[in-house]
Amino acid sequence: MSRIGIGHDTHRLAPGGPLRLGGVTIPFEQHLEGHSDADVLLHAVTDALLGAAALEDIGELFPNTDPANRGLDSARMLAVALAKVTAAGYRILNIDSVVFAEQPKLSPHKAAIRQRLAELLQIDIAQVGLKAKTGERVGPVGRQEAIMAQTVVLLTSA
Ligand code: MG
Repeated sequence: MSRIGIGHDTHRLAPGGPLRLGGVTIPFEQHLEGHSDADVLLHAVTDALLGAAALEDIGELFPNTDPANRGLDSARMLAVALAKVTAAGYRILNIDSVVFAEQPKLSPHKAAIRQRLAELLQIDIAQVGLKAKTGERVGPVGRQEAIMAQTVVLLTSA
């Protein structure tokens, strides 16, 4: 049986780098704000995985009201989600994401992010798609106030 999942996340940009995105540290003059380490792409991936298996969402698993989650490494949240999906009897067929960011240009970092996602998800890099889009200078992304990410994942019975 196949199961599809979707994840979406937004985090606000704030002065001072570096930027944490997809489990990779990117030199940039802004960072993402959040209760955890605010890695917007890892959050979208985590929710896509959880959603595909119809499990709790990331906010239910890691409430931002819990001080234990402050500054939490998003790779840790993704590992928990992957373990739950695996325990539910699924494995990942492929994953595909879009990052919406006016700056920085992500093309120099795409290979590293895909490699890191593959490592975290224990799949091959060929199973990890990644695109980057700007906000065309309009809206919160285009005004460089926020970065958003969307992810779809396809699971199959292990
Ligand atoms: Mg988030």
